[in-house]
Amino acid sequence: MSDPRRLSGTEPATAVRRDALARLDACREAGVEPCLATVLASDDPGARAFMDRKHDRCAEVGIDTRRVDLPAEAPAERVYRTVEELGADPAVTALFVQVPLPEHVEEAAVRARVPPEKDVDCFAHANVGRLVAGDPRVRPVTSLAVDRLLSAHGVAVAGRDAVVVGRTTVIGTPLAHLLCRRDATVTVCHSRTEELGAKTRSADLLVTAAGTPGLVDGSMVSAGVVVVDVSANRVAEGVVGDVDADSVGETASAMTPVPGGVGPLTMASLLHNVVAVSAPESVSNGLS
Ligand code: NAP
Repeated sequence: MSDPRRLSGTEPATAVRRDALARLDACREAGVEPCLATVLASDDPGARAFMDRKHDRCAEVGIDTRRVDLPAEAPAERVYRTVEELGADPAVTALFVQVPLPEHVEEAAVRARVPPEKDVDCFAHANVGRLVAGDPRVRPVTSLAVDRLLSAHGVAVAGRDAVVVGRTTVIGTPLAHLLCRRDATVTVCHSRTEELGAKTRSADLLVTAAGTPGLVDGSMVSAGVVVVDVSANRVAEGVVGDVDADSVGETASAMTPVPGGVGPLTMASLLHNVVAVSAPESVSNGLS
C-alpha cells in the first residue's frame, strides 16, 4: 500500500485560532476581558508542561490567565477551595481543572465546584449532562479537536465502524459520544478489554487515547483504516502516540502525525472555548 495520507492538525488549528481571535476582538468590544484560570494538582512533569502550553497559547494572544499548581499531596479541601474561589472570582471568566486528580481528591466534588458557565472543558456535571442530551453548552476540547480534524480532512464518519481505545471522562468517553452522534458504530476499549487486536482490526476508523506508546502495531489494524492518535506520550526520543507509526503506516490509508496531529487543534480549541464561555451571548452565538 502507498504511504498513508497525513492528517495534519496544523492548518485546521490555524483556522480555528483565527476564528477564536476574531471572536476575542468582538468580546473585548462588548466590554468583556477573558481570563482563564487553571488548577493543577499533580507532580507529573508532563502535566505541568501541558499546562505551560495552555498558558503560553493564551499569552500569545493577550488573554489573561491565573495559574494555581498544587503538589499531588495537597489536601483535598485545598483543591476544592481553590476551584471554588476561582469559580467565584468575577474577574475569572473561564476555568480549567487538569485531570487526572490525585486519588484522595474526589473528582465529583471538583466537578460540582466548577461553575457551568465558566467551564472550558465540559467538566461541570450540568455541562456533561447537556452534552449527552445533545444540547452542549461547551464541548470537551480534545473531542472538539478530533471532530475538526476529521471534518477538515473530509474523513467520512457516518456508517463507519469506529473503535476508540481509552474511556476517560475527558477524552475517550466524549470522543465515543461524538462519533456515535456522527453516526459511526462505536466500540470503546480500555485496560480490561480482552483481545484488543481483534477489536482494533474491526475498525474503519481507529482513535487511540490510551497514553501507552506502541500499544497498537501493524498486526492490529486492517487495510485502509484511518488512524487518529490522540496520545502524546513523553519518551526519551520525544513525544510519541499509542500507535507504532512505521508498521501501522504500511496498512493505514490515513494517519495523524504525533506531534502535529490532534495536539495543535486541542490548543486552538481551548482558545476557542475560553472565548466562547467568556463572551456575551451576542458574540458567542455559533461558537460552542
Ligand atoms: P489516562 O487517564 O491514563 O487514561 C488512559 C485510558 O486508556 C484509560 O481509559 C485506560 O483504561 C485506557 N488504557 C490504558 N492502557 C490500555 C491498554 N493497554 N489497552 C486498552 N486501553 C488502555 O490517560 P488520559 O489522561 O486520558 O490521556 C491519554 C493520552 O492522551 C495521553 O498520552 C495524554 O498525554 C494524551 N492527551 C493528548 C491530548 C491532545 O490534545 N493530543 C490532550 C490531552 C491528553 P481504563 O479506563 O481501564 O484504565
